[in-house]
Amino acid sequence: MKPFAFERARDVDHALSLAASSPGARFLAGGTNLLDLMKLEIEQPPRLIDVGRLPLAEISETASGGLRIGALATNTAVASDPRVRRRYPALARAILAGGSVQLRNKASVGGNLMQRTRCPYFMDAAKPCNKRLPGSGCSAMEGLSSTLALFGASEMCVAVSPSDMSVALAAFDA
Ligand SMILES: Cc1cc2nc3c(=O)[nH]c(=O)nc-3n(C[C@H](O)[C@H](O)[C@H](O)COP(=O)(O)OP(=O)(O)OC[C@H]3O[C@@H](n4cnc5c(N)ncnc54)[C@H](O)[C@@H]3O)c2cc1C
Ligand code: SF4
Repeated sequence: MKPFAFERARDVDHALSLAASSPGARFLAGGTNLLDLMKLEIEQPPRLIDVGRLPLAEISETASGGLRIGALATNTAVASDPRVRRRYPALARAILAGGSVQLRNKASVGGNLMQRTRCPYFMDAAKPCNKRLPGSGCSAMEGLSSTLALFGASEMCVAVSPSDMSVALAAFDA
């Protein structure tokens, strides 16, 4: 893993100013996607900004009768919230279909939506991948693609979002 600076954000403004002053910096939430990619040297941020302790985990009612889910709510917290289970059962079920209990306890909503693709070529630095290195080509076009997109792909990339949660959120027009 490449050396990097690590800073813990005191509040949201601090997190944003750290990000603005450091091109290529990444926010760190649960770390379950970002740290894996750093170990593979797919992600090489010069600075990690730890947002994991910011008070952004609340799930609250909105005036229009919906729910507002904080970026740092864990996957487990969302899937087990009685209001989510009653009013948006597909969201709870989509989350529970993914990963393991340990992973869902650590993974945040923001991180889930912002996680990178799990296309095998994206995670293999030895293979061409336009998403990782624009212009290098797309190994999946002629290679393993059974988990990739049938619809909505481009000429450059056929990767799909790896987030199960995002499918349910899109279905609920969230
Ligand atoms: C073994 C394994 C199995 C998995 N299986 C599934 C599965 O079946 N279904 C599924 O949906 N997912 C699956 N995942 C992915 C998992 O859900 C994600 O790794 C997790 O949700 C990421 O959340 P995190 O808080 O750990 O994010 P991190 O790893 O901390 O961050 C991921 C990305 O999001 C960015 N980020 C994080 N928080 C914010 C924020 N608040 N604002 C802006 N950017 C932010 C980070 O900078 C980083 O780029 C799996 C992961 C693993 C390791
Ligand atoms: S589909 Fe192609 S361009 Fe997209 S992530 Fe996979 S290898 Fe890279």
